[in-house]
Amino acid sequence: MDSIGVLMACPMNSYLEQQLDKRFKLFRFWTVPDKSSFLNSNKDSIQAVAGNATAGADAELIEALPKLEIVANFSVGLDKIDLAKCKEKGIRVTNTPDVLTEDVADLAIGLMLAVLRKLCESDRYVRSGKWKKGDYMLTTKFTGKKVGIIGLGRIGMAIAKRAEAFSCPISYYSRNEKPEINYKYYPSVVELAAYCDILVVACPLTKETHHIVNRDVINALGPKGVLINIGRGPHVEEPELVSALFEHRLGGAGLDVFENEPYVPEELFGLDNVVLLPHVGSGTVETREAMADLVIGNLEAHFQKKPLLTPVV
Ligand code: NAP
Repeated sequence: MDSIGVLMACPMNSYLEQQLDKRFKLFRFWTVPDKSSFLNSNKDSIQAVAGNATAGADAELIEALPKLEIVANFSVGLDKIDLAKCKEKGIRVTNTPDVLTEDVADLAIGLMLAVLRKLCESDRYVRSGKWKKGDYMLTTKFTGKKVGIIGLGRIGMAIAKRAEAFSCPISYYSRNEKPEINYKYYPSVVELAAYCDILVVACPLTKETHHIVNRDVINALGPKGVLINIGRGPHVEEPELVSALFEHRLGGAGLDVFENEPYVPEELFGLDNVVLLPHVGSGTVETREAMADLVIGNLEAHFQKKPLLTPVV
């Protein structure tokens, strides 16, 4: 398989890079200064693209690669891939579901605790020596808070299970009510936000879910409410979030993802009711290795004409 060209869209993971390099003819797209002449020179050898949550395969890239057969994504989210174009051209698409579910759900619970119990802020309190001058302020209890989840899929369900262990009543919004599940369903995000204490975004980023958390949703969540986003940045209308936090119309936020990563609104840096993470939901050594193995497994299966492990298209 070492004559098969695989284009890695951006730096992702050194283990994945090594494994791709061992098995295929690897092209590191981010190291290429003149992308269009590179694509023109290599268009007949590139048969696969490895993408992730930062860069994938848009219509322009797909059109530039006439021999492209498969996009193997190093992420479960498919928002950086033009799925319609892939379908139209018969290009296969795979992602990395399930193997990252637990890490992302763990992180969502971590964010809830961090925001309500002010873990990061109280850590800074100790380090700065302020404790010697007086005790830290009281914070907010997590156990028993009403948790509302937008998108009760693999990750949403894993968050729900964890939150149940903290005696949190669970409710959710998604396109379809899931009658087999015992959590309360709300037919709109605003209704869900008005009911819950903590609103978690865990749905895929699509045209329909872009800015699914807008001013109305934030106002419904209210001054004691907390927003947790472990989905994608563009799910949340970021300027609305920033102004709601400043105007105390929202109680707090725990954010793993942002609209324009790695740029984060600097207004948030001074707020002690927000916890900001650099998109690390699946970022453990164990999970990233399992994700890399799935990418490799899918590529090998495809080129050996075997069934794909985790096909999307
Ligand atoms: P999943 O199993 O496909 O679940 C997605 C859920 O969202 C489904 O239950 C679906 O239910 C719901 N949904 C789809 N479209 C919706 C819409 N328009 N409005 C409301 N709900 C909608 O996916 P997953 O594995 O849980 O992953 C979810 C997302 O998490 C990914 O797409 C990715 O963007 C994000 N993620 C982030 C990180 C991170 O590092 N922060 C890591 C992994 C994943 P219905 O079909 O009933 O609507």
